[in-house]
Amino acid sequence: MTLTRDKRLIRDKLLIGGGWVAPASDGVIEVINPATEEVLGTVPEGTAADVDAAVAAARAAFDGWAGTPMAERGAALDRLHTALSARAADIAETVGLELGTPLKIAQMVQAGLPLSVLRGYADLAAQPVTEQTIGNSLVVREPVGVVGAITPWNYPLHQVVAKVAAALAAGCTVVLKPSELTPLTAYLLADAAVEAGLPDGVFNLVTGTGPVVGSAIAGHPDVDMVSFTGSTATGRAISHAAADRIAKVALELGGKSANVILEGADVTRAVKTGVANAFLNSGQTCTAWTRMLVHRSLYDDAVALAGQVAAAFTVGDPFDPATRLGPLVSAAQRERVRGFVERAEAKLIAGGLDAPVPEKGFFVAPTVFADVDPDSELAQEEIFGPVLSIIPFDDDDHAVRIANNSKYGLAGGVWGEPERAIAVARRLRTGAVDVNGGAFNPRAPFGGYKQSGVGRELGAFGLEEFQQVKAIQR
Ligand code: NAD
Repeated sequence: MTLTRDKRLIRDKLLIGGGWVAPASDGVIEVINPATEEVLGTVPEGTAADVDAAVAAARAAFDGWAGTPMAERGAALDRLHTALSARAADIAETVGLELGTPLKIAQMVQAGLPLSVLRGYADLAAQPVTEQTIGNSLVVREPVGVVGAITPWNYPLHQVVAKVAAALAAGCTVVLKPSELTPLTAYLLADAAVEAGLPDGVFNLVTGTGPVVGSAIAGHPDVDMVSFTGSTATGRAISHAAADRIAKVALELGGKSANVILEGADVTRAVKTGVANAFLNSGQTCTAWTRMLVHRSLYDDAVALAGQVAAAFTVGDPFDPATRLGPLVSAAQRERVRGFVERAEAKLIAGGLDAPVPEKGFFVAPTVFADVDPDSELAQEEIFGPVLSIIPFDDDDHAVRIANNSKYGLAGGVWGEPERAIAVARRLRTGAVDVNGGAFNPRAPFGGYKQSGVGRELGAFGLEEFQQVKAIQR
């Protein structure tokens, strides 16, 4: 595709206190198109001074927004939904450009999903907050305060909306720092917020790097809660920074999810769905089922089919309708993924480092390994690329042991006779499990056990994360 709208991609202001303001310093961050390796646009490289200004604006706006009647808050989020919906095509295209998600998938997932999440929060915001009586106590819920939201690049709008919409619906005000790799999509939300006429300072956008803007938010004395999605290492650093002032932290971190295919399962469906899940968004999905666990009776068929399915993926230009797998987000990410493939000690079934990929762009071929040792690096580390590991098991207990042999606990799949599959799903130490291809539900709680995180996002549980609970004794 030809880029005819370069101007749109140069953003030189930050949204602070309801207006577009010049950043405190003149540094810029170049945004790279990962499919072409060319500079796509620039955004301000914010500093701690910009964070101070944004937090002050959010603090000033807090009492007013927290005290706004529910119906009015709901109406404001409804206007935000309308303004963002009008930008759906732009959102999909921008994510295609800055992340490399194939356009059709970008339309469905990168634009469609956050719009549906925002719709849900506009509805929830308008509903009265549940109060509870416990003996002589009236238990009420109140917004937690000023929220710092720090987000990654893999679902650049969804991860932002999951935080911002829930926080706003709860009555909090927000300072958002999107990933420096994909900041342009967040500007579309900021444009929508301005158009929707959200009260000044309720939503603020400061772009910049993690070590500068991210850590200024995490350590800011006037940020009441930090909501973070990204790597476990950064989540740990943010927890430490927030611990000094005992600020609340919600963390959505990495994963190494297992797709368990039990004896008697529909192996064709399980493998086809499983491979598509593992490779969605070039494998850059925290919930990706990157470990396929297969009962020995189905193992050989599953390995052969997974290899065929992977080999049939068309890799290339995200704007070509035939493409199913785009590039990885950056050169660094590609090198990281290639490192895992290079060090792998397992049977290569498809892809690998010698498989053909476009010369330009940060591509890695869809890769499948079989006979993977459950304790190996390949089966233990989050690769965040299109790399699937297949592991055999002997019985349900063995499958559960392998699935739970992980420092992560985010998601998973189980395939088999429904009651048996649900029994196995209950035993998995993860925040979500899809049985026999059960669809992702954007109103169900989303979050991790173990090192996959703390807290829940999405739906009513996600809103509660941004509330304090108060007991009033009478
Ligand atoms: P990251 O954790 O470094 O970045 C996520 C966000 O945190 C970005 O906005 C970044 O600027 C910010 N950040 C970085 N350092 C910070 C700091 N010290 N203080 C405050 N904020 C900081 O993740 P990444 O570099 O984008 O990706 C690295 C790895 O993280 C990936 O390979 C993948 O394994 C994992 N990851 C997981 C998810 C997920 O949804 N679970 C998403 C993206 C990345």
